[in-house]
Amino acid sequence: MTGNIQDLLALVDRGTLFDVLTSMAVDGIIVIDKKAKVLFYNEACRKLFQYASEEVVSRNVNMLMPEPYRTEHDGYIDRYRKTGDARIIGIGREVKGRRKDGTVFPMYLSVGEGAIGNERVFIGIVHDLTDIRAEEERRAQADRDLAQIVESSDDIILSKSLDGIVRTWNPAAETIFGYTAVEMVGRPIWAIIPPDRRAEETEILRRVGTGESVHHYETSRLCKGGREITVSLSVSPIREGTGTIIGASAILRDVTEQRQIEQRASKLQAELAHAARVNAVSQLSSALAHELNQPLTAIMNYVSAAKLRWSQAGGVGSDKAFSLLDKAILQAERAGAIIQRLRSFLEKREPHRVEEDLNAALQEAIALGFVGSSNDGVSLALDLAPDLPAIRVDKVQIEQVIVNLLRNATEAMKETDRRELSISSYRAGAKIVEITVADTGSGIPDSVAQQLFEPFVTTKEKGMGVGLSICRTIIEAHGGRIWMVPNPTGGTIFKIQLPVDA
Ligand code: ADP
Repeated sequence: MTGNIQDLLALVDRGTLFDVLTSMAVDGIIVIDKKAKVLFYNEACRKLFQYASEEVVSRNVNMLMPEPYRTEHDGYIDRYRKTGDARIIGIGREVKGRRKDGTVFPMYLSVGEGAIGNERVFIGIVHDLTDIRAEEERRAQADRDLAQIVESSDDIILSKSLDGIVRTWNPAAETIFGYTAVEMVGRPIWAIIPPDRRAEETEILRRVGTGESVHHYETSRLCKGGREITVSLSVSPIREGTGTIIGASAILRDVTEQRQIEQRASKLQAELAHAARVNAVSQLSSALAHELNQPLTAIMNYVSAAKLRWSQAGGVGSDKAFSLLDKAILQAERAGAIIQRLRSFLEKREPHRVEEDLNAALQEAIALGFVGSSNDGVSLALDLAPDLPAIRVDKVQIEQVIVNLLRNATEAMKETDRRELSISSYRAGAKIVEITVADTGSGIPDSVAQQLFEPFVTTKEKGMGVGLSICRTIIEAHGGRIWMVPNPTGGTIFKIQLPVDA
């Protein structure tokens, strides 16, 4: 077969061969003389530049160039003739061509030099780069699109080598982890892996190395400064052009807040369930208190009547017995008063402010605060100023505040050796009454103290962290303020100021 073609080629004359080659060539072929006049212009050129051969031949080749080449081209040829300094001849490079309709396109031009007879000529081969450049631009744009998605993502997006060296680190990673890309790129990923999660990360990298991906895996990561966050992690292999896995890309969503909200919601639910139980019991106790009132009153009446009858009947040997009966009446009255207080504390009611004796309210609150809690060896020191003016408060609400402070204080003293609770009231100014509740408990760490009165701040396993925020709402609604200072002898002091005539 090959032999046949060789034979055929030998038979055709050179002119025919030239015609076949130049008309069938995919690349443009242009021959010009030393003055840049076009001598030859092939079929591919016609397709490329849109000019027919007869429109170009005999004219300056610069008609196929956009500015500034068009004007400068004669100069290039002159310079080459004088200096032999070749910029393109024998080399070739990417230049621009201009079509008949004025549009400009990228092309690769290689120029050779030769002679036809005595005439020096230049042969240009023109390769159209339009499609290649368009494809490159499409890819570059796709890369820019991707880069912008990564840049603007709220999720952390990073990549690393299979041995855990960070390769890319997006702005969300900078914001959330607190490390800049400069600090992390080229460094090990371990900076953000909590020590107890290292084995897990090694395992993930191993799996990704075998081509596996990890989807929405919940774990924790470490920020600069030591704060731990909960993240949902997805990791996939990164492959080279050849398909070899060279690293891992990871997307991390910070779900810390979401998890905290869920935790709070479930705590809240538990608390609600508890509140519902308390409510049921309090309704029961309310009813019970009501029921008990009658027999108590009856007991008091019977005892009083018995005492009267006995004294009317001469009351022989009655002194001792009378004093016992008086004691019985006193105890029955006391039981009645306790029931009354409990009822009004439990009652659901609209806030209602009247002039009250603050010390009396404090004493009631103390009695309520210790109901049901073993005092655990807490010693109570009361220092209530006797000359306090009456102030307008909602007594039940103020009692609620004090009960809450007492409960917190006794809890804080569970683990301490000294368990001293001091409550005092005094005038702190012409129009201000102050209450302090001081304990010798654990004290409050700065981190908690700063947001002590915010809702949901708690250090307790079963705490809701709403007690103090409710206290603040109540006190501020009374025109007063509540704050905390550390107890100089260890523990905590809560102070409340209430205006005298708000
Ligand atoms: P809770 O008691 O449900 O946690 P609070 O709002 O009443 O909610 O209290 C918030 C947090 O403040 C507590 O978890 C505790 O850490 C701290 N705290 C409050 N009072 C005291 C106190 N007297 N001593 C030490 N810590 C306290």
